[in-house]
Amino acid sequence: MNETLQPGATLGVMGGGQLGRMFVHAAQSLGYETVVLDPDAGAPAGVVAQHQVRAGYLDEAGLAELARRCDAISTEFENVPAEALRQLAERRPVAPGAAAVAVCQDRADEKAQFVRCGVPCAPHALITDAAQLAAVPDALLPGILKTARMGYDGKGQASVADRAALQAAWAHLGHVPCVLEQRLPLRHELSVIVARNAGGELVNLPVQQNLHRDGILAVTQVPAPDIAPALQQQAVAAAREVAAAMDYVGVLCVEFFVLQDGRLVANEMAPRPHNSGHYSIDACDVSQFELQVRTLAGLPLVEPRLHSPAVMLNLLGDLWFDAADSARTPPWDAVLALPGVHLHLYGKTDARRGRKMGHLTVTAPTAAEARAVALRVAALLG
Ligand code: ADP
Ligand code: MG
Repeated sequence: MNETLQPGATLGVMGGGQLGRMFVHAAQSLGYETVVLDPDAGAPAGVVAQHQVRAGYLDEAGLAELARRCDAISTEFENVPAEALRQLAERRPVAPGAAAVAVCQDRADEKAQFVRCGVPCAPHALITDAAQLAAVPDALLPGILKTARMGYDGKGQASVADRAALQAAWAHLGHVPCVLEQRLPLRHELSVIVARNAGGELVNLPVQQNLHRDGILAVTQVPAPDIAPALQQQAVAAAREVAAAMDYVGVLCVEFFVLQDGRLVANEMAPRPHNSGHYSIDACDVSQFELQVRTLAGLPLVEPRLHSPAVMLNLLGDLWFDAADSARTPPWDAVLALPGVHLHLYGKTDARRGRKMGHLTVTAPTAAEARAVALRVAALLG
């Protein structure tokens, strides 16, 4: 994958969600043709790409068509089967590669990768059978039981106070392979997004400080207001180390916790652009999606520069319902009357509570002003 694909070439993406949609926007802006593979007719990325292959992720004919139509292929969500990426890679350059995606798809493998790189993570144990459940050390409780695979936005997780709760939670999760993590006393959450190309060039976005509600990202602030510069440097170094160790090509996000005692601990990683990097579209001179395009096309990477402090607010489907639970349109006209507001809606017609419908980034000359406008937006949206 050392050959450069010049604008005009065709880039493919596995998955048609909002991340694919923003990848398509970035690719098209640079002059690339785009093809999305996704089974759903109204997929947010499918409706904006030049072409959508409507097929399942393991459909052989669909994969063959995607490979035929594209010069290189990326992925927009980590649960695309690694096997599909492996098959595609026999015909076309694929980034990130199946092996790296497979690591990120499994919480146990992901933690093992952190450990191999000397990056601290939460004390944890793998649970795949009753014997492992029984052998869990007391020190991991109270803890959080997470399915090893397929979890996102806090789904596939249960808080467990003691052994009885652990047993019940594992049964509730269907006895699938899980990781039990010690519940850590969090002070802050942050994430680092890096991009690495096949030539080994590595760049990173500035550190993001993240606030989650009910396991779903709610707010991202950049610059990170509460994370000491030394900790930020430590997080950036760790993310870069992990990407290099996996010989990763593409955009990678590593999530971290800062504990009450000030220690930095890695949480999980995503082999793709990340919700916490959406602000980069409006606040950086190169976005995480353009970085994904550049890594896939073998273009040079340039260190991203934050040109405006930013606050990103996620827009969940809940905003499409009023206090009486009736459907409504959020007051976009009032929101867009505020300075520095950049609205991004993903074209999803069906608003459901907890569903990511869009996001909004406030940029301003100072972080304090960005925060003030974000508070006014939040008040307007209720
Ligand atoms: P997901 O894949 O759903 O994003 P995460 O592992 O990132 O799953 O967990 C979601 C959120 O739950 C985290 O952002 C954090 O707020 C909280 N959380 C996860 N693991 C722990 C832990 N070990 N201790 C305390 N809080 C945690
Ligand atoms: Mg997470």
